[in-house]
Amino acid sequence: MDCRSDEELYQLVQESRVHTIEGMVADYIPALAKADLSSLSVAMAFPDGSCYSAGDVETKSTLQSISKVIALALALLDNGEEYVFQRVGMEPTGDPFNSIIKLETIAPHKPLNPMINAGALAVSSMIKGESVEERLGRLIHLTELIIGEEGIGYNEEVAQSELETADLNRSMAYYLKQHSVIEDEVDEVIELYTKQCAIEMNCVDLAKVGLLLAMDGKHPATGEMILPPRVASICKTFMVTCGMYNASGEFAIRVGVPAKSGVSGGIMASVPQRCGIGIFGPALDDRGNSVAGWDLMEKMSKKYDLSMF
Ligand code: GLN
Repeated sequence: MDCRSDEELYQLVQESRVHTIEGMVADYIPALAKADLSSLSVAMAFPDGSCYSAGDVETKSTLQSISKVIALALALLDNGEEYVFQRVGMEPTGDPFNSIIKLETIAPHKPLNPMINAGALAVSSMIKGESVEERLGRLIHLTELIIGEEGIGYNEEVAQSELETADLNRSMAYYLKQHSVIEDEVDEVIELYTKQCAIEMNCVDLAKVGLLLAMDGKHPATGEMILPPRVASICKTFMVTCGMYNASGEFAIRVGVPAKSGVSGGIMASVPQRCGIGIFGPALDDRGNSVAGWDLMEKMSKKYDLSMF
């Protein structure tokens, strides 16, 4: 793996690892409950190609909600800003990621942002392709371009496990279809969204996703524009305002970098013009963020002066 283990990061990981006992694995997706609660890994990827890592770096995890950022980028590439934001808003909700309440109470009944489940379901339905396979394949291909490597796949066991327990997401998708936010068949949207959430990688690849966004969409090694700067900018802005669920405001104060978390315990962070960070630590706090990952981000922000505010 092209990422060097780093003693300083290792010390921080060991200090943060003690917090894993305060957390719980996500068990509403049964396959995620099998994760090792004490696991923690981190990587920092820099524009000059250097990369530093520590902890259980080889462990691959699913992206879960982190995939919402890449799906948003593809939906914007496929449809343009105007189309996307006619169907999904730009405001944080202050509610849990899987809450349905504001869909009903706030007219015109479109999801408030693309980082909550309702908004992400709408975004996934905007990814172009003839079939779920083709649409998922396009998303995986974009992920590979972002990371700069092939061989990304999704975890079938996790996807299947979520498919069997996704009734809340299914209910949101029906609601969105009723209000013409989505046009696809609900089963198709759920299948695509669930498989997208099950895309898996290790913390090094996750750090590279953060790095590409940090570099405004330009691949640091090849100079190729993988995403237009405007798309990278929209993604990072949503990461600041909505990326850590209903703890995004607190994270902005305590850490101060665009970041997106997922219920697998992942955190992908993007420090503008400086580096990308990938973390996996499956023990979650009560809002669904990696408890040790959050602590580690706070420590790294202080030590390396990462806050952009
Ligand atoms: N697949 C998960 C879900 O829809 C993703 C949520 C998350 O990571 N917060 O519930």
